[in-house]
Amino acid sequence: RADLAMYQAKAAGRNTLRFFDPEMQQAVSARAELEADLRRGLQQQEFQLFYQPQVDADGHITGAEALLRWQRPDYGLVTPASFIPLAEESGLIVPLGEWVLYTACRQLAAWAANPATAQLELSVNVSARQFHQPGFVAMVRMALQQSGAPARKLKLELTESLLLQDVDDTVRKMQALKQDGLGFSLDDFGTGYSSLSYIKRLPLDQLKIDQSFVRDIDNNVNDISIIRTIVALAGSMQLQVIAEGVETASQRQFLLQQHCRAFQGYLFGKPMSIGHFMRLLTSR
Ligand code: C2E
Ligand code: MG
Ligand code: MG
Ligand code: MG
Repeated sequence: RADLAMYQAKAAGRNTLRFFDPEMQQAVSARAELEADLRRGLQQQEFQLFYQPQVDADGHITGAEALLRWQRPDYGLVTPASFIPLAEESGLIVPLGEWVLYTACRQLAAWAANPATAQLELSVNVSARQFHQPGFVAMVRMALQQSGAPARKLKLELTESLLLQDVDDTVRKMQALKQDGLGFSLDDFGTGYSSLSYIKRLPLDQLKIDQSFVRDIDNNVNDISIIRTIVALAGSMQLQVIAEGVETASQRQFLLQQHCRAFQGYLFGKPMSIGHFMRLLTSR
């Protein structure tokens, strides 16, 4: 709707704007304001990475997922749902995603330099538009090189829709980066439309069970069988499997029974600032 209004406004000239539904006008200006704000926020360094622990079957922290946050003036700390879609549409996701990767790599390098944290791995979300940029592989290599981060500790989280967009480009880029030692995780697994034969062709390392399946473990028979299937599939394809959105001890217990041995979720920690994450690590 906002797109259409913008287009019509441009096509018809300024004065016709007053014929529009005021709600639509409001949506258009909110969108324009958000985009300008995103641009400015990037320059003003208003973004930060939060870190959510990933744990093994014993509850030991093995690493984290980096999750983007925006300290937007007058709005407080903003989560990605409200700005990633527009960042994607406007192309701002490219510089923003580059900032994320450089920041994540610097953190990974800092961990690697300290024996107490050298084992930690870091997962970073990559959006479709960012991944399909021509310079994506070179950008990742540059971020690794400039930071000195160990590629083997870096995992990129991709989504099924991203992988389906341009299969040749996808496979080529994944293979190139895998040669450097990077890992790939398939995020939100089970919510997309990719066929199993297709997924088999991709050089993945991990499947990440979407939180929508974990949420209803205690009472939804379908979700239980989906989880069983995903864990079995991962096993047969020799992929790691991690469950996201684990909030309760009984969800963890069920997942353990299904031989899932890696977890992420509020039960173990919410996404937190780096200071908070480091304190959590040392308190254990
Ligand atoms: P995601 O990659 O699937 O990340 C997991 C989301 O689930 C995060 O939301 C996290 O805070 C939330 N979560 C984790 N554990 C639990 C739990 O136990 N219960 C519930 N209810 N939620 C849990 P967040 O941080 O709001 O991020 C949302 C999405 O935004 C991410 O989903 C990812 O797709 C995207 N995103 C985040 N950071 C980045 C980034 O740096 N780049 C890109 N391209 N996308 C990002
Ligand atoms: Mg993710
Ligand atoms: Mg996910
Ligand atoms: Mg998700």
